[in-house]
Amino acid sequence: MGLKEKIISYRHEHFGGILMIEQPKALVYVDHECMRSLGLGEHPIWESNLMRLSGPTEAKLMLSDSSQSGCFFCLTDINNKKYCSETGYEEMKNIVQNLARSKVFFVLIEGGDCLTLPWLFDLVRDIRSHRMLATLTTSGTYITPEIAKECREFERIWLYLDVQNDQALPMRKRNDVIEATNKAIKMLQVMKCQVGITFVVTRNNFHLMFSLAEFAFKTGVDQVELRRIKPSGRTKESYYSLCLTPEQSDALLPSAYHAMSTFGIKLKLDCSFGPMIFSHAPNIDQMEIFDITGCIGGESSIGIWSNGEVRACNYLDIQGYDFKELQTWWNNPESFPIIREWRLMAQPPCDICNYFTLCRGGCRSVSSFVLGDPEEPDPECPIVHKYRSQIF
Ligand code: SF4
Repeated sequence: MGLKEKIISYRHEHFGGILMIEQPKALVYVDHECMRSLGLGEHPIWESNLMRLSGPTEAKLMLSDSSQSGCFFCLTDINNKKYCSETGYEEMKNIVQNLARSKVFFVLIEGGDCLTLPWLFDLVRDIRSHRMLATLTTSGTYITPEIAKECREFERIWLYLDVQNDQALPMRKRNDVIEATNKAIKMLQVMKCQVGITFVVTRNNFHLMFSLAEFAFKTGVDQVELRRIKPSGRTKESYYSLCLTPEQSDALLPSAYHAMSTFGIKLKLDCSFGPMIFSHAPNIDQMEIFDITGCIGGESSIGIWSNGEVRACNYLDIQGYDFKELQTWWNNPESFPIIREWRLMAQPPCDICNYFTLCRGGCRSVSSFVLGDPEEPDPECPIVHKYRSQIF
């Protein structure tokens, strides 16, 4: 099959265009010449002086900020209360239409436990009708054979594996969580759903990374996504007892690499792990293996909170924008301050770091919470940690 036959959707950009292709599903960035050769040129945007993408490629959509699942590290709500500002189905449909107008490719549904929403699958069908792909991140608590069948609407289901050591997690026993996840995986696999495991790495479960890869292998899961703990939602209160120690931050890349190569699992690392990767001076091949780009908030990714507010990143508690004006906000060079101004924020030691243009100084939400200033370099970066220990 040639490239043209593999194209699911595309969007013109100042440099040429972005193609979403299948087998495997991926975004491919191509130049003007390639677009022309595919019969997809010319376009007025090619004459523009726009230096950023014409819109986000992915949107992280929080449908709800309530959950009964009680995940220890919940990054959204803390008391299982429903915020009165949740928009509900009709408004979410409008949000999806706006994302389609901006030619977004991926809608990543997360936040709260969306499987309790009676309109979830109607919304996913809306997303698909606009030729966008949807994934769902969920605890798996509510997966039943019937729901697993409906989950085929998703491109992939990511199951949170909420495992801490039992001392840190007296209310939820590790074996119960593993057994529940195991059952959810089996139900989804019977329905031929693509399943991945999302694992939030904390200082209490860091040592379980190898067992995690083994669990994925034994259950036939082909991908594991490691997420860094963020000072957001329920985790704000326990952040300092959960964030990685300096030794663990330093050991993340070799530990993840060891686990992956032993069991042949594709391991994704979320963008906030950039400093833990780039501090090891990886080569390009290693970065491709870990599918890591550093912070992409406001550059190719946006977050949409359950009340319809658009943010560069859902973990960073800064001004949000009305989704109805998404494209206007996106095109405004002054939108998403702090996140988009990363080039201006190169403070020591980031200013001499070879990976700064990829890493962009690490996770803004961590700097904001720990140092009270989102423009400071990520204090948990091994290089920054060493630098600060010498200075202070
Ligand atoms: S020094 Fe700064 S740019 Fe370099 S890896 Fe650390 S946080 Fe990222």
